Amino acid sequence: MTTEAARIADDIRRAYDGNPWHGLSVTAILEGVTAAEAAARPIPNAHTIWELVLHMAAWAGEVTRRLGGAAPAEPAEGDWPAMPAAPTEAAWAEAKARLGEAHADLTAAVAAIEQISGADAHAANGLLQHDAYHSGQVSLLLKLAGRKAVTIACPPWVADVVDWETRYPTDEARMRVAVTLARENVSRGGGGPFGAAIFQSDGRLVSVGVNSVVPSANSALHAEMMAFMMAEHRLGSFTLEADGLPVHELFTSCEPCAMCLGATLWSGVRRVVSAAARADALRLGFEEGPVFPESFVYLEERGVRFTREVLRAEARAVLEAYREKGGPVYNG
Ligand SMILES: [Zn+2]
Repeated sequence: MTTEAARIADDIRRAYDGNPWHGLSVTAILEGVTAAEAAARPIPNAHTIWELVLHMAAWAGEVTRRLGGAAPAEPAEGDWPAMPAAPTEAAWAEAKARLGEAHADLTAAVAAIEQISGADAHAANGLLQHDAYHSGQVSLLLKLAGRKAVTIACPPWVADVVDWETRYPTDEARMRVAVTLARENVSRGGGGPFGAAIFQSDGRLVSVGVNSVVPSANSALHAEMMAFMMAEHRLGSFTLEADGLPVHELFTSCEPCAMCLGATLWSGVRRVVSAAARADALRLGFEEGPVFPESFVYLEERGVRFTREVLRAEARAVLEAYREKGGPVYNG
């Protein structure tokens, strides 16, 4: 007679390496996935395939421990074990092997139980649901990577630090939004020490951006670029000086680099207000690219005005905090 434990053990084995009713097994989904694909983060601030695999292995291990009589706890290696710094094929093979071993141990532990208790059946079935839930996420991440689509999004915490409803009457008030974003981007571990915001001349906030180069693996995602893209998307116009639109101004926590200065011209903003100076960023080792005095003259001749060093000390303090934290200098 098949016991309940044997049935659950068989379900876990099938979910991992068989033919589960809900779709492909974990091993079938992961077949052929490279280390680079596993380490990619196609959705900013969401987990990678690699992280999901380590998480699934950790919880399979924890459930095995509970079946052995241990009190419920978080996995010894943590809820979300970190990916290795270097995503090599060998390290990826090791992560997948860990997942396989954790499931082999769990299946054996469940199958060995003669009369499974309610609590143990609950834990084992919970793991089964956990596997199904996360293997569905892995499938979606692979589809997203296969679409070759790039997703650009502000980190979720931006909603907590930006007030979209209020009006910002002065340069200082507007710059404080950009500098606050830069500071939070450092303290919350998201990316480089830069923030930007675009306002209409009446003080209405249209868009914000934070540097997302490292977390999004995207060299173009400087704070100013993100703010431009978000504003254009929101207004449904590729230029912010289209007929009928009010004047738009860019506030950035640091003087723009070559890329952002070029994009400034095409964006249609009529004024650029900066806090930290180019020299402040260079001191950290950030490269600003080919920006020359003539570059500013060129833009000024086309109607873009520049105002510098608004809240410079505050913005410099953010750069300094980033340096002390040992944050990566990604383009210097
Ligand atoms: Zn830039």
